[in-house]
Amino acid sequence: MVMVINNLHNKGCSPATSTNYSFKDNDNQIWVTRSGIDKSIIRVDDFITISSEGKSIGEYKDLRPSAESIIHCVLYEMFPETKFILHSHGIFPVLISSRVYPEFRIQGYELQKGFPHHQTHQTESIIPVFCNNQDMEYFKKELMERKRQLNNNCFIIEKHGIYAWGNTLLDAKKHLETLEYLCQCEFLNSK
Ligand SMILES: [Zn+2]
Repeated sequence: MVMVINNLHNKGCSPATSTNYSFKDNDNQIWVTRSGIDKSIIRVDDFITISSEGKSIGEYKDLRPSAESIIHCVLYEMFPETKFILHSHGIFPVLISSRVYPEFRIQGYELQKGFPHHQTHQTESIIPVFCNNQDMEYFKKELMERKRQLNNNCFIIEKHGIYAWGNTLLDAKKHLETLEYLCQCEFLNSK
């Protein structure tokens, strides 16, 4: 997990201590990156345990989890098989998000096969774009209401970044890379 985060950082996806990452262990305990850590030097020790409401618990209760931890909790609740969630601030999803709000529609790209259930590039992929609301309760409601559109295991937050998840770390990484790549293709193509 740390290696995946370092690689994302090296690609410019987590500037200035931003972004957050989580996983669920074999006891279904959620671990999330704590707030304010530079992702170029992140270590395994920088993950802390949180409750299903996104509050730090146990020996970590005095440490502050990422402010967006509640989004991770909601996704684990909505999709119980999920084990890994990655949140990136890659530049192309940020740039394209306002142009395509409230949903990013793509068709005809080979890499769409990187999304779950996509056997062919001819299928249209629809990725929801949410407005960048800091009210986490409101955001939770929005996610629940648009659950049907989350079947590609990812979404975009306008002028902010993306979330992607999977049952394995490599699946989560694949969904994130697929969305980042498709955002880049569409952005450069629509100039
Ligand atoms: Zn963020």
